[in-house]
Amino acid sequence: MNDWSPKLLKWYEANKRDLPWRGVNDAYKIWLSEVILQQTRVNQGLEYYNRFTEKYPTVSKLAAASEHDILKLWQGLGYYSRARNMHHAAKEIVAIHKGKFPVTYESIRALKGVGDYTAAAITSIAYKLPYPVVDGNVFRVYSRLLGISTPIDSTEGKKKIWEAAAELLPKSNPGIYNQAVMELGALCCTPKNPNCTECPLQTACYAYSHKLTNKLPVKQGKTKVRDRYLNYLVIEKGDSLLLHNRKGKDIWKGLNDFPCIETEEAISLEKLIATKEWKAIFSANKPVIESVAGPYKHILSHQRLNAQFLKIKTSKSIKKLPQDCFWVEKKKISKYAVPRLIERYISNYL
Ligand code: SF4
Repeated sequence: MNDWSPKLLKWYEANKRDLPWRGVNDAYKIWLSEVILQQTRVNQGLEYYNRFTEKYPTVSKLAAASEHDILKLWQGLGYYSRARNMHHAAKEIVAIHKGKFPVTYESIRALKGVGDYTAAAITSIAYKLPYPVVDGNVFRVYSRLLGISTPIDSTEGKKKIWEAAAELLPKSNPGIYNQAVMELGALCCTPKNPNCTECPLQTACYAYSHKLTNKLPVKQGKTKVRDRYLNYLVIEKGDSLLLHNRKGKDIWKGLNDFPCIETEEAISLEKLIATKEWKAIFSANKPVIESVAGPYKHILSHQRLNAQFLKIKTSKSIKKLPQDCFWVEKKKISKYAVPRLIERYISNYL
């Protein structure tokens, strides 16, 4: 328990954003909102939350959907493993819990894709159980408020803040308190230039009184980002287009893109045509390269994708289609779930 929670809760009541999952006790909908909001801005997530709750109002309906339909509805949000895990977990809830959302922290934490953060958010908000929710906003608020200078991206720093959050969590209404700390981080104690003059915790804040608001929290270092070079072959034959369904452990599993030749670095057209991958697809055919678009840059958490798209017309059939490729009618392309990078190209060139 702490001295400042009444002030914080009062501030929260007066300032919280009006969001559709606020005031909801349905654990399924709270779970949906938490999964959607990981790595996503609230404004963008809102639209997806409404789509999902409308199309799949219950966990059983979500479990019964096809993965393709879920990925299509998720399209544009990124981090597609979230959608696949969510679908998997919905099936687990139907199979193990007879379609009723589990009610204990442990059983929720055991669901596929559910980590400490999400399990704590669901149990504290839906069931009023005293589990602290610690997301990026909370790390920042507590680091400043308590003057914790251990890097928040280190195991030790995370542990320190989690322990502080657990100790400070009030027993009554932990869910509202958790949401209030997160909202303070989102609206007031922002990463740059926190609005300390409007902050209800100003008098208690270590960083404010020691003029350290721009020094805390400390981060130990950025994750290395890997550059990848993707040469997409957008092959058209008559009214059809060759799509590729992504499988395996790489990015965008389950989504569709085009056949691709990945290279170590950006590559000229001459060199691309000379690769064994190109020859394996076109053998003796001489397809017409209609246009080359790019480079398109696309940033993922640990990768920077540099993509170019070659629009290729071929009148001859391709004897051996590249693995996991299939022809689709060009006018039906919008029915297929594709990552945003591919969507950008399609909306400009197809
Ligand atoms: S006083 Fe400033 S730094 Fe401290 S918690 Fe409030 S907004 Fe954050």
